[in-house]
Amino acid sequence: MRSLYVKFVVVTVGIMIVSGILAFLISNMYYQHKLKPLNDQKNTTIALEIATFANEHPTINLKEYLDHLSEVGYQFLLVDHTGEKSFFGASFRDKTLSNTTKEYVLNGNIYHGILHFPQGTFVTGFFANELKNTIGVPLTHNGKSYALFLRPDIKLLFNEMHLLFGWLLALTLLLSIIIVIFSTKYLVKPITKLTKATKSLSSGDFKVELDTTRHDELGELSKSFHGMAKKLEQLDDMRKEFISNISHDIQSPLSNIQGYTNLLEQESTSPKERSNYISIINGEIKRLSILTKQLLLLASLDRNEDILTKKPFQIGEQLKEIIRNYQWWINEKDIMLGYSLPDTEIIGDPSLLHNVWDNLLTNAIKYNKSGGSIDISIEDRDTFVLVTFRDTGIGMNALESERIFDRFYRVDTARSQTIEGTGLGLSIVSSIVRLHGGQIKVNSKEKEGTTFRVELPKI
Ligand code: ATP
Ligand code: MG
Repeated sequence: MRSLYVKFVVVTVGIMIVSGILAFLISNMYYQHKLKPLNDQKNTTIALEIATFANEHPTINLKEYLDHLSEVGYQFLLVDHTGEKSFFGASFRDKTLSNTTKEYVLNGNIYHGILHFPQGTFVTGFFANELKNTIGVPLTHNGKSYALFLRPDIKLLFNEMHLLFGWLLALTLLLSIIIVIFSTKYLVKPITKLTKATKSLSSGDFKVELDTTRHDELGELSKSFHGMAKKLEQLDDMRKEFISNISHDIQSPLSNIQGYTNLLEQESTSPKERSNYISIINGEIKRLSILTKQLLLLASLDRNEDILTKKPFQIGEQLKEIIRNYQWWINEKDIMLGYSLPDTEIIGDPSLLHNVWDNLLTNAIKYNKSGGSIDISIEDRDTFVLVTFRDTGIGMNALESERIFDRFYRVDTARSQTIEGTGLGLSIVSSIVRLHGGQIKVNSKEKEGTTFRVELPKI
């Protein structure tokens, strides 16, 4: 596998090389079309000025004059009418020049060799040290005609510049490659860390360490990954706690049943004790049955969609029926019950909502004081219905009321532990309310009472 790091470096260096070639081609094209004619013109002017000077000063030594000029950065070829050639300055690499060209200049014409130097993709005529790449002008000195061919001595003129530009280019390239190699490591590092974190997560270790201080997309990714790892850890903890709770809640009635059946087997057990044990066993079996029913319901609620079979029905009616069912218990505990339940129709799942009211009412009865009161009301609020259960029971503190919707959570007070229950009721209630698109809120004060408010959308 080629790592992202290697790919990134190769691609960047590749881009640098390709853009270097493109830049050369474009600047070469610019020289050929724009700079070459200017260069030709400039050198023609210089050549003509030299010729005029030589012409106007017949006393000077022409060869010495050209020698001096070559020292300031020119290469010359002087051809006299007999065809004799004299070179001045640095020698030409390619000295071919046709006789017709020489004749042409000797006859008084100007030769534009720089302008007509052949174009090539990778050839910059500017640097071609050839006799063909010159300007030729006629020159008359002391009554003799010559042809003077001239070109700037690029090597002499640009030697230092050449080196300077060479170093500049080489250093730019080298430094860019080094910087790319290091900066890529910095860019790719968080991805390597994320990969490591994913591996440790999949092996069950949720303690991942990521750099979440970066302000770019990778920082965002690390942040959300961190969040996800935390959520997964919580879920894992919840799952473990859930399993241990279930095991405990199944195990304790089973061992009670076993203990009492052993007692039943003993011949010394009196009939009165027997019937007592049997009723305890029955109670434990009922507890187990309720627990399994609740777990089944929770499992199907967890699967979410399609569990609701909604239809329009009157919740006032439904609540009154549930109250009738528990009237004996309310009377037995000497509780005052008041309600205001006007006919209100909503669209929902009647059997699931039955569970909601059932649990809220049984809680209000179970966790009430003898002689206390319960108030139940329905309020129609345009788009939703508000159902309130208010009791004057044992109440809870703020910390406890935050946790009551957790599975298996039961407030750990001496009083409430003597009351039957699995601690699954309110988590079922909140799941059902959520599936209906509503919400449930609790407000409670220790020793004063509790109020549950359920908001359900009407449709
Ligand atoms: P289950 O409903 O499964 O039979 P449960 O009633 O104990 O068991 P929940 O209905 O989930 O479980 O309630 C969780 C806990 O919240 C209860 O054990 C109780 O401590 C506390 N609680 C719930 N309703 C009230 C209330 N009206 N007043 C005081 N405490 C309450
Ligand atoms: Mg309950």
